[in-house]
Amino acid sequence: MHRHPPTNPNAPEAVLVENVHKRFGPLEVLKGVSLTAREGDVITLIGSSGSGKSTLLRCINMLEVPDEGRIVIGGEAIGLKKARGGQTVPADSRQVDRIRTRLGMVFQSFNLWTHMTILENVIEAPVHVLGVPKAEAVDRARKLLDKVGILAKAESYPVQLSGGQQQRAAIARALAMQPKVMLFDEPTSALDPELVGEVLLVIRQLAEEGNTMILVTHEMGFAREVASEVVFLHQGRIEERGPPDRVLVNPETDRVRQFLSRHL
Ligand code: ADP
Ligand code: MG
Repeated sequence: MHRHPPTNPNAPEAVLVENVHKRFGPLEVLKGVSLTAREGDVITLIGSSGSGKSTLLRCINMLEVPDEGRIVIGGEAIGLKKARGGQTVPADSRQVDRIRTRLGMVFQSFNLWTHMTILENVIEAPVHVLGVPKAEAVDRARKLLDKVGILAKAESYPVQLSGGQQQRAAIARALAMQPKVMLFDEPTSALDPELVGEVLLVIRQLAEEGNTMILVTHEMGFAREVASEVVFLHQGRIEERGPPDRVLVNPETDRVRQFLSRHL
């Protein structure tokens, strides 16, 4: 079985999450979470439903603003301030926009624009956000669609694709922004079982090419192969973390053991 190399301690920090807290009203969903993804790392987040995995990913790209703590992307700390009502908000929305272009996000639901062809979906942000000339964006988009195995669908609309093809298109769309880090939130959870493999294959290829990724998944066999580190969240705290061959095979805590007995 293929194994991802362990974290290179000398690689630069791509994502630093420091003591992040997030509340929704009275509910504290993240209770002081810290993690580091160095360049080339594949951090796999696991944990039961409701443990805070999606909220943590959403804090990294500021779809949710942490109440406390720090997010640093490629060495640049995201500026936060207290608004008048007491809630924490970004200090500079342009900084957030800029940093977001360095983070590719792929969700459980594919979120493609239904009124655009697959090719149009992939070139939209490079052309309109980064200002890439259209011919160049099309050229790159076609290479990416080929890479994820759906070049033949370039002129099709999302509804004409299977779920697995749509998710591969969503991955190509995220890659088209040449992100420094890819964030995946349960990218195969909405797929019919027979379509899971083709999407995992694409993500595995990205891992092998050395892309930095933070990935939420319930596919434990896959996590074991692609992860440089596995992080187990429980009720908003990191309960256990370490190399996949330890956490997923010989966990130290009963919580992880119980979780694995339900997911293997
Ligand atoms: P996971 O992805 O691990 O299943 P989530 O991060 O989605 O967990 O959710 C963690 C907890 O936060 C859950 O109890 C969920 O109901 C709650 N939650 C998530 N988003 C919101 C929100 N926007 N408003 C209120 N509660 C939320
Ligand atoms: Mg989730």
